[in-house]
Amino acid sequence: MQPIRYVIVGNGAAGVTAAETIRHQDPMGEITIVSAEPYPMYSRPGLAYLLINEIPRQQVFARQPEWYQQMCINLLFGLAERLDVDQQQVILGDGRILPYDRLLIATGARAVPPPYPGAELKGVVYLDTLDGTLALVKQAKRRRRAVVIGGGITALEMTEGLAHNGVDTHYFLRRNRLWSKVFNDTEASLLEKRMRDHHINIHYNTEATEILGDRKGRVRAVRLEDGREFKCDIVGVAIGVKPQIDLIQNSPIKTDRAILVNEFMQSSQRNVFAAGDCAQVYDRWTNKHTLDILWPSAVAEGHAAALNMCGQQIPYEKGSPFNACLLYGLHITTMGQINPHQDDDSDEGPEVMQYLSRGSSEVWYTYPRHYASAWSNDGENTLRLVLDGDYLVGALIVGEQSTADPLRYIIENRINFREVHPDLSIGGLALKRSLQQFWSNLNRNQAGSYPNPQNIIIE
Ligand SMILES: Cc1cc2nc3c(=O)[nH]c(=O)nc-3n(C[C@H](O)[C@H](O)[C@H](O)COP(=O)(O)OP(=O)(O)OC[C@H]3O[C@@H](n4cnc5c(N)ncnc54)[C@H](O)[C@@H]3O)c2cc1C
Repeated sequence: MQPIRYVIVGNGAAGVTAAETIRHQDPMGEITIVSAEPYPMYSRPGLAYLLINEIPRQQVFARQPEWYQQMCINLLFGLAERLDVDQQQVILGDGRILPYDRLLIATGARAVPPPYPGAELKGVVYLDTLDGTLALVKQAKRRRRAVVIGGGITALEMTEGLAHNGVDTHYFLRRNRLWSKVFNDTEASLLEKRMRDHHINIHYNTEATEILGDRKGRVRAVRLEDGREFKCDIVGVAIGVKPQIDLIQNSPIKTDRAILVNEFMQSSQRNVFAAGDCAQVYDRWTNKHTLDILWPSAVAEGHAAALNMCGQQIPYEKGSPFNACLLYGLHITTMGQINPHQDDDSDEGPEVMQYLSRGSSEVWYTYPRHYASAWSNDGENTLRLVLDGDYLVGALIVGEQSTADPLRYIIENRINFREVHPDLSIGGLALKRSLQQFWSNLNRNQAGSYPNPQNIIIE
């Protein structure tokens, strides 16, 4: 019998997880990964740490070249340009043709350029790929004044990275609150204080309309909405990402904002699967096909796609989204439906939201049906809980993180939270104490069945 030919386009979290899973399921299968970037797999979230010199370049690689050899995975560098679903072939930019029996598209998402003139100028940078990040570090060493544009985590990470590299950094925000789609006023002010301590100049309600260049095609300024020019020599852009699905243009594969897949990660073509940032997956939390630009989701989707490519019929069940990040030394964890600020008159609700940020899930921005929220604030530590009836559906934790794993477990397993209800409206330490009690009762009553019965710290 001929070995099955598996072709995976994309060498990121989804693609590599899928290749590894296939190898375990089908030791004889022929596995080829196509990568547009000439590197073994690296960690995209790690790029933010590379930017602030928290890790050396070598540490960003999640796989070494030998790993591919040991796993008998053929890693091909090149751009997959076209897909012929009738012939079952992937056509590369240099003319190479790869026939497949099962294909996985795991091409990820890329930063979108600014929607106004100037995107092509030297000095416009993105925190997106390894090459882009190395270019950003190099440019930061030579530039004096930066403007960063964008409202999400990536823009914030960029401000930190540029300031860390000695650049006078100005952060332009359209709105009047940091990370306004997610943070409330208190959460935002905690981060704001840290940013000001690091000498970041925050410009609220400020919008760029054009990036201006000099005669040599280098950034010289940014034009503002009121017509003023703001001098700078580097512009960091992080206004969102777009799934990379050029490969399937002119193919019959169905898309919405990304490749639509069913619960088996299968596209509208039987032998073509998709996973990670380029896939739009059914989401049990919102009952819709959503975008989920998160590393753990890409890993889980790559794993599920591979099992189904190997002939198993295992539906993928999307977990509650989770992200932990470190900004200016402040730990921030986001999970489930966080429900943005109630009085936010944002016109960028989930329905019209054009682009999603890196490290972000659409689920965060959806409102639970019977929404209620509880709040605890103690110095630099805050905890926000979001409830749908008797169930916890989301949480945002800033600072002390001992509640993160317990809350994630309670959300993910839909554990009834009614017992804690009376203390929710009191908030503050009472809420945290109640949570601590609830968690230790849960551990006691279900001894052994909880994976990580860690303690919740109160003071
Ligand atoms: C700076 C930064 C910070 C982040 N922080 C977090 C975080 O804190 N938490 C979190 O959960 N997530 C974070 N993310 C998001 C996370 O990294 C992504 O969700 C995840 O990497 C998606 O994996 P993927 O495999 O779908 O795509 P990717 O990792 O983007 O991989 C796509 C692969 O496809 C290749 N490719 C694309 N097109 C082609 C083509 N036509 N032909 C051949 N190869 C192609 C690319 O070269 C790449 O190898 C962050 C991302 C960035 C950039």
